Amino acid sequence: MKWGFKMSKEKEEQTPEAVAEEVTEEAESIEEEAKESFEAEPMEDTSEESSETEPTEDTSEQNSETESSENESEENSETEKKQGFFSRLVAGLTKTRDSFVSGIDSIFSGFSSIDDDFYEEIEEILIMGDIGVRATQEILENLQQKVKENHIKQPEECKELLIQSIKEQMEVGETAYRFEHEKSVVLVVGVNGVGKTTSVGKLAGKLKAQGRKVVLAAADTFRAAAGAQLEEWAHRAGVDMIGGQEGADPAAVVYDAVAAAKARKADVLLCDTAGRLHNKKNLMEELKKINRIIDKEYPDAFRETLVVLDGTIGQNALAQAKQFMEVADITGIILTKMDGTAKGGIAVAIQSELGIPVKYIGVGETIDDLQKFDSEQFVDALFSTREE
Ligand code: GDP
Repeated sequence: MKWGFKMSKEKEEQTPEAVAEEVTEEAESIEEEAKESFEAEPMEDTSEESSETEPTEDTSEQNSETESSENESEENSETEKKQGFFSRLVAGLTKTRDSFVSGIDSIFSGFSSIDDDFYEEIEEILIMGDIGVRATQEILENLQQKVKENHIKQPEECKELLIQSIKEQMEVGETAYRFEHEKSVVLVVGVNGVGKTTSVGKLAGKLKAQGRKVVLAAADTFRAAAGAQLEEWAHRAGVDMIGGQEGADPAAVVYDAVAAAKARKADVLLCDTAGRLHNKKNLMEELKKINRIIDKEYPDAFRETLVVLDGTIGQNALAQAKQFMEVADITGIILTKMDGTAKGGIAVAIQSELGIPVKYIGVGETIDDLQKFDSEQFVDALFSTREE
């Protein structure tokens, strides 16, 4: 085990060596358990599905992408100017818009009166767009109420009200982004292939651009090459990274990273954590251990746990989120690959069904392609009702 970073003297109750020893013992016992239950209860892994839907999963392409993006960071600010935030979102949601919105539009033009059939058609389109049953019902109830209150008689007049209802369904308060402005530790979890490492890199770039000092912890030591991949992102984002060797104890990496974050007076410590453990019990133990270390070593840091979900797998993303909710106190969601799906409505479903806010969405593979989730903008981009 590698303990690259010495703690400062500010620890009162326990010496770093004692904490390290405790962690080592825990790690050994967990490794032991891991060996015993290696094949049991596999966590759902989307890497195969993702590679079907994502041509960029091809590693050779990914590598050349990575190399070429060395120059990208310099061009990023330029690109950002050219293609602003909103137009990137509009571009990223093209597939969803093409299927979902054209369906909605045909209802508004195809019906002459507002009746049960009209609402049923809307319901069908919303469900087909993966908005989910619960969210769809709530949106429809809200819409019916608005139609009544505003004495609307013509179907075309309902469009704005429908857009408004979807926005209301998806509102995320500003408090959801508290960690961006405070000294915080953000654990990022998600199964292999969903875009976890990429999202951590993008988030680091985003926070750095806001003037925050960011340290990354490469605590997903389970997956081969995850550390090297994160290192490239750290380089691209211009932030520090603390890592461990492949197979190292993730909690030990987090311990080192917390020490580094404190010493370097970082604002945000972003931890790329346990992504692919072979069973739920391991994952739970792993995350518990990491949380204990942070509680002990960094008690004054604001805490956030984000689960990364692949938007292209539709309702399966919901199931995956539920699995993670069983093992960790999830505070938010990063929904990736929204540019690669026609079912962007999954963002609405996830938020309504799970009661957990979607805080960011990924709309592409470059460092600028992670956006803070803004329901107003999302729905406007979906219906493309606003020009930049
Ligand atoms: P991890 O195994 O969960 O850490 O996943 P990676 O971060 O390695 O990402 C897997 C693949 O998904 C890579 O090829 C990424 O470039 C790609 N990816 C991640 N986020 C997005 C996104 O928002 N849009 C698109 N199109 N691809 C993405």
